[in-house]
Amino acid sequence: MSARIAVLAGDGIGPEIVAEALKLLDCLRADFGLEVELDAAAIGGAGYDQHGDPLPQATLDLCRAADAILFGAIGGPTYDRLERDLRPERGLLRLRAELGLFSNLRPAILYPQLAEASSLKNELVAGLDIMIVRELVGGIYFGQPRGIRELEGGERQAFNTMVYAEHEIERIARSAFDIAMLRNRKLCSVDKANVLEVSELWREVVTRVAADYPDVELSHLYVDNASMQLVRAPKQFDVIVTSNLFGDILSDTAAMLTGSIGMLPSASLDAGGKGLYEPVHGSAPDIAGKGLANPLATILSLAMLLRYSLKQARLAGRIETAVGNVLNQGFRTLDIADGGHSVSTAEMGDAVVAALRELA
Ligand code: NAD
Repeated sequence: MSARIAVLAGDGIGPEIVAEALKLLDCLRADFGLEVELDAAAIGGAGYDQHGDPLPQATLDLCRAADAILFGAIGGPTYDRLERDLRPERGLLRLRAELGLFSNLRPAILYPQLAEASSLKNELVAGLDIMIVRELVGGIYFGQPRGIRELEGGERQAFNTMVYAEHEIERIARSAFDIAMLRNRKLCSVDKANVLEVSELWREVVTRVAADYPDVELSHLYVDNASMQLVRAPKQFDVIVTSNLFGDILSDTAAMLTGSIGMLPSASLDAGGKGLYEPVHGSAPDIAGKGLANPLATILSLAMLLRYSLKQARLAGRIETAVGNVLNQGFRTLDIADGGHSVSTAEMGDAVVAALRELA
């Protein structure tokens, strides 16, 4: 049976970069026998323009029925004046919540050809390949109670609650162990168990889950040490699993190790393997419509979609190899050209398709 992919291109450069990923899907269907059905729908500003809602009901229904969602980007200055609930970002946040996408995968991969883009020394980062697994729907960002209250005497006090139930820790741990099994079987759990009770429980549950994954080497680091290690010797890591707050910070640090936002894919998965796949960057209104956007983050998001939701690891690997090959051939969009010759969004997409065909 064909897999169903919902395609949500969104706003700004979204339609341009998604168009290049769709070229690759065409090639996978024609030359590699992949069976997929695609359904496009509006989200974000486009959802508001067409249906008065950044997450139209028809889009949500389509996403519920799909096996995976390929997402471009949303947002733009024209929507900033809308009331909060109608803004494009709300559409994406609601979609993540409605689908229970609790496991956020953020790879930090630095192709050796682009090692100069990193602010770290070449030898520290060339060939870097880390996966950060961040819990996305719990922790201090959602914990109750939260708010700002007035103390006696009129001074205000603000408070948030960092809270995790055992089942929430267990499911993110299992997600991370499963991913480690697909990679180099090393998992580092990051917490602050020397200070926080919530981290004590986190460590206990992750350690318990490890018994079901005897092939994975588990280690633990406190978050302060993990942030140091990430910039001191990032290649020591394979998979990192952590809570919402710590993951938010560490994944941005890891992203900057690679230096190029146009290269970074991501996935957000539910318990059954359905996922939303999107580049880490936004809708880049400053370059939208100019053919300047780098489509590789979206193309690499498609590779993740194939690996994690469609269980097509071989095809995912082919796309990643094709991307490496076009970089070897010298193709660069403006953001990664370092002042040298650059190609357009479509030319980059065409080059990856040509490189993929050679691997058929
Ligand atoms: P941005 O990621 O869109 O852009 C930051 C900078 O990186 C810009 O200079 C942009 O030109 C460049 N850039 C981004 N992607 C690129 C690519 N593929 N190729 C080449 N250059 C690229 O972040 P921003 O400017 O802070 O936000 C712009 C809009 O995107 C806002 O409306 C914001 O809310 C939205 N946004 C959406 C998402 C999402 O869809 N998940 C994420 C972040 C921001």
